[in-house]
Amino acid sequence: MKAKMDRGASVNRAHSRREFFQVAAAGALVASAVRRASAAAPGEQNPGLKIEKIEIFPVRYPTIGYFKFFEGPPGTPPGRPAVIVKVTATDGTVGWGESVPIPKWSYETLESAASTIENYLKPVLIGRAPFDLVGAHEAMNAAIAPSFSTGAPITKSGIDMALHDLTGKACGLSLAQRWGCPSGGKITLSWTLNPRTLDETEKLIEEGWDRGYRNFNVKVAPDPKFDLELCGIVKKRVPEGFLWADANGGYDLATALKAAPKLADIGVPVLEQPLPSNRLTGYRELKKQGALPIIMDEGVISPADLIEFIRLDLLDGVAMKPARCGGLLGARRQVEILKDAGLMFLGSGLTDPDVSLAASLALYGAYGLRFPAALNGPQFLAKSVLTKPFTPVNGQLDVPTKPGLGIEVDEEKVKALMVQ
Ligand SMILES: [Mg+2]
Repeated sequence: MKAKMDRGASVNRAHSRREFFQVAAAGALVASAVRRASAAAPGEQNPGLKIEKIEIFPVRYPTIGYFKFFEGPPGTPPGRPAVIVKVTATDGTVGWGESVPIPKWSYETLESAASTIENYLKPVLIGRAPFDLVGAHEAMNAAIAPSFSTGAPITKSGIDMALHDLTGKACGLSLAQRWGCPSGGKITLSWTLNPRTLDETEKLIEEGWDRGYRNFNVKVAPDPKFDLELCGIVKKRVPEGFLWADANGGYDLATALKAAPKLADIGVPVLEQPLPSNRLTGYRELKKQGALPIIMDEGVISPADLIEFIRLDLLDGVAMKPARCGGLLGARRQVEILKDAGLMFLGSGLTDPDVSLAASLALYGAYGLRFPAALNGPQFLAKSVLTKPFTPVNGQLDVPTKPGLGIEVDEEKVKALMVQ
């Protein structure tokens, strides 16, 4: 509890007006540094390299257990949809990416990701220099314009990841090496609890515990009575675990203001996305209430969004996920902005399979994630398209260290998962 209060105090300190301008300046510096880094040295070794071909593979990964986001309308095919992206350069170097839409989490779908890449992104990317990541994003954002923030970010992230993989392989460096960050290491994972009734909870905890997980994130909202009982059960069974509550925008403000202090009393260290993304004044009230750190997720798409939300004093941190941010370029900027602002950087995901999981591990490993990551692909997905699938040991995954995303995709396994 004391550690939580200390963290809250340091978070508050970061919010003086003077410090905000330092944050904004740091954000601008980060942006220019990323622009220099991604446009400079390695590309110059290979000035003639161009994107020659972009292929897409729409797939559905079979799932294990119940997770509310994978329940589609009646008749929807089961499984976790993804569009696997293969980009080939003129010298034959291949990069793999993966767009991971979940229509019940945000508006992108398997079909929209596939048609957007095929009909709108591919035509503006073919022939471009793959090392010019900033230019690729500018071209994609011109073809699919923003709404409030970046348009179709999850779709674009598949391209972004493939370009990171391709360029890393072309210069023989892991992402951490290219970013000047520590390579390798392990990421501790959090086990997701999404019980439909309270009496399922203990069994779900045991499943994670038996597989070596010691930290648990819970899906809460809309019913705070259920949520408090759920968190109480988890805290009693795993008192030392990091118990992270994510409401996925499911409370209204009055409910969230009542629930937040009670969750804090139970020992919940953070409350993620208590309100829908566009309830900005509500976020400000919850932040001001100060019961526990308020973390944003769904609504933080571009680095510009994050700077605005920090300036408006709406949050104590962000649950990062590269897929939500249009890929690694924007996600990496956001992590640097959070660190510069003294705010919390949590590592989350979208039940990322394989390629998208590798991108998340690369980012969290490189930037020294301090909290257990809610990367639950290995928990909920039954298949992999990798030659060597990611398999948690004692609730941890190794951060890949080979060039690019550091993984080897088996194209036969990809084809076997393809939707008809
Ligand atoms: Mg979340």
